Amino acid sequence: MRFVFMGPPGAGKGTQAKAVAERYGVSHVSSGDIFRGEIANKTPLGLKIKSYLDSGGLVPDDITVGAVAGRLEAPDCANGWLLDGFPRTIGQAEALDKALAKGGTKLSAVVDLEVDPEVIVERMSGRRVCKCGRSYHVRYIKPRVEGKCDACGSGLVIRDDDRPETVRTRLATYQKQTSPLIEYYDRKGLLLRVDGSGSPDEVRSRLFEQLNAFVSE
Ligand code: AMP
Repeated sequence: MRFVFMGPPGAGKGTQAKAVAERYGVSHVSSGDIFRGEIANKTPLGLKIKSYLDSGGLVPDDITVGAVAGRLEAPDCANGWLLDGFPRTIGQAEALDKALAKGGTKLSAVVDLEVDPEVIVERMSGRRVCKCGRSYHVRYIKPRVEGKCDACGSGLVIRDDDRPETVRTRLATYQKQTSPLIEYYDRKGLLLRVDGSGSPDEVRSRLFEQLNAFVSE
């Protein structure tokens, strides 16, 4: 199985993508996580891309395609993968199509998680993250001990790009550069629209039901 997960920032993409990847036994590949890892490790790539993430804009296509393509060559991706946050531009989608065609494979489904803008702002302002990569929400995904990660006990923080001014830029970037992909994949008959409103559990059961039906068609 090869999935692409789309949705505006704050749609709950990361949380749901992880659940789907576990359910189908495929690797969860998040371009945002790849970039945050590079920045945290202060690699040459990390230093080059930091300003894009800080501003809420997109990392240029050539850098992004190179980073994701490299990750998809890892052995754990051989049995399938789920791309979370990639592609985000038509150029990236075309590069992905080309790579798939070269390998003689194709996508199984593209999920678009649909969420109202007001809900997005509420979700993003309540998101808290741990340096180990886990994500929480002050209302919807509470840690067992307030402000502490369940897995490693570290203090939870607000992600730098979840601050209100950056959130506005990220939403505008999504509208302008990423939303055209919805039509791109719809025309190919790959798009599955899923209502992303409600609690993470509600979204997950709705998503699993629709996705199972879609991939077994
Ligand atoms: P995310 O965790 O998916 O919300 O990504 C966080 C940030 O990483 C984005 O705001 C972009 O700056 C950058 N980024 C992640 N994925 C991509 C992509 N496919 N193309 C360009 N920039 C990306």
